Amino acid sequence: QKKVAILDINVDSVKMTEAIDIVENLMAAQKPAFIATANAEMIMMADQDESLKYILNHADLVVPDGAGTVWAARHLGVAMPERVAGYDLTQHLLARAPQTNRRVFFFGSAPGVADKAKIKAEAEYPGIQIVGVRDGYFKKEQEQEIIDQIKNAHPDLLLAALGVPKQEKWLYEHLQELNVPVSIGVGGTLDVMAG
Ligand code: UDP
Repeated sequence: QKKVAILDINVDSVKMTEAIDIVENLMAAQKPAFIATANAEMIMMADQDESLKYILNHADLVVPDGAGTVWAARHLGVAMPERVAGYDLTQHLLARAPQTNRRVFFFGSAPGVADKAKIKAEAEYPGIQIVGVRDGYFKKEQEQEIIDQIKNAHPDLLLAALGVPKQEKWLYEHLQELNVPVSIGVGGTLDVMAG
């Protein structure tokens, strides 16, 4: 699909239904893929952070999260069909997960938040398999234990909520070792879900 370069970040020109299909295809492909949800803050941060810029430009999908991104693309002369917010994309994927039999892992946010989000998700999406949770506050020496926890849970979808740019850098660095079909940096999504 078409990409739009906003401050040298290639953002995919996709609408929500297309983004969902792409994620489903990436989960079926079973090669570790990484998805970013690019709002204006992330794009401006990447403009000042070469490693974040590199990571975003090597992501399998960068969705236009936020009115600023959609506006900038249109301003650059490329019709961005609609905003694809990370939170909304996540909810669509969770809603489909019971039927498609996708296993989900919640990683990130303050201690207790992912557990609460899991309980909420299980009520909202009956039959969903949240196969693991882990908070996002850890020391470098705990990293291997976290990677092992995620690997051993065998999720199809990893939601990483460590904030920007930590989540993007962490996912990119550990993508091959994690070997999860699809990982998405979701920012404050677990906080919102936990309520
Ligand atoms: N967070 C975390 N570990 C950290 C720093 C932040 O798990 O070391 C979590 C934080 O608790 C929050 C999320 O990352 O749940 C960041 O949310 P925010 O809305 O600030 O995300 P951003 O605006 O960066 O996308």
